[in-house]
Amino acid sequence: MRALLLEETNKPMEVKQVTDPSLTNEGVIVKVMANGICRSDWHVWMGDTNVVKKYPHVLGHEFTGVIEEVGKDVKKFKKGDRVIVPVAQGDNTCPYCLGGHQNLCVNRVIPGVNYWGGYSEYAHVPNADGNLIPLPDSLDFVSAASLGCRFVTAYHGIVDQVKVQAGEWVVIQGCGGVGLSAIQIASSIGAKVIAVDIGADKLEMAKQLGAHITVNGSLHDPVEAVLEITKGGANVSVDALGISDTCQKGILSLGKRGRHLQIGLTTKKENGFISVPIDMIVGKEIQIIGSSGMPTSRYSSMFQLIESVNIKPGDLVTERVSLDQAFDVIAGMSHYANTGISVVDRF
Ligand SMILES: [Zn+2]
Ligand SMILES: [Zn+2]
Repeated sequence: MRALLLEETNKPMEVKQVTDPSLTNEGVIVKVMANGICRSDWHVWMGDTNVVKKYPHVLGHEFTGVIEEVGKDVKKFKKGDRVIVPVAQGDNTCPYCLGGHQNLCVNRVIPGVNYWGGYSEYAHVPNADGNLIPLPDSLDFVSAASLGCRFVTAYHGIVDQVKVQAGEWVVIQGCGGVGLSAIQIASSIGAKVIAVDIGADKLEMAKQLGAHITVNGSLHDPVEAVLEITKGGANVSVDALGISDTCQKGILSLGKRGRHLQIGLTTKKENGFISVPIDMIVGKEIQIIGSSGMPTSRYSSMFQLIESVNIKPGDLVTERVSLDQAFDVIAGMSHYANTGISVVDRF
């Protein structure tokens, strides 16, 4: 089969012929139909994160496809089923998995990191019964791949972690893929969304996806703007970026009993630490809540929301490319921030 091979970090990746994946008893072989291109791929390629243990490797953690072959112990799936491969996979035996928090599994597995992923014609997915999700007919492969890690992460954060309610003011810092997804989800459940970014094109997209108000952080102080618009502070702030500026400004934009959702991980500069206004957090009874990926148990509820309020995750897709073009998109992330999502749909 053809696959985009990562042979060495920070060296160009090429599409090459490799051996087809072999089937295990509890796994399936998926014919990949679409794979979302993510900044995490860029980080791994650059060598920022030392997660890949063996080279050559095939990245790709945002893919959908059709089951081609089924291991003999797999009970829930058959050849021809349309599926989405979740980004965070559990062993389904540890206490977190049994509690429905597969995203926090003690033996968490990520496709395209712990095994060869979606930048290839075929991928083997282990533990299929526990890890694969049937794809509703209403979602095409490209839209489903665009759910990737960004939309699902935003869904889990907005719906499960900070439990955004209709009518609440939600300020979202950072309009990259996860921020734009959070805007789509929060506005679709009836929240009033204020989108903050420094890119005019990103703010335009935020508006198209349901943001009520946009604030350009390079022209206005976003904290002052939010306090004025909301008359005292937002109910929820979301830091979709993970730098000191967006995290702190998010928290400072909150009103009494506000909830801050931290989705973005920090960069090398913060190295995991950001100072926060503790006295304000105490005085206003503010909660700071983290969110990481999404449990596999929550996919069905996410699909229900997508169908019931007619969210179009595919609206975030700004570019469809072939496997041969994928590396240029990944490498391009070094120079500019892509608006929206690029998806590989030809292999
Ligand atoms: Zn587990
Ligand atoms: Zn991703």
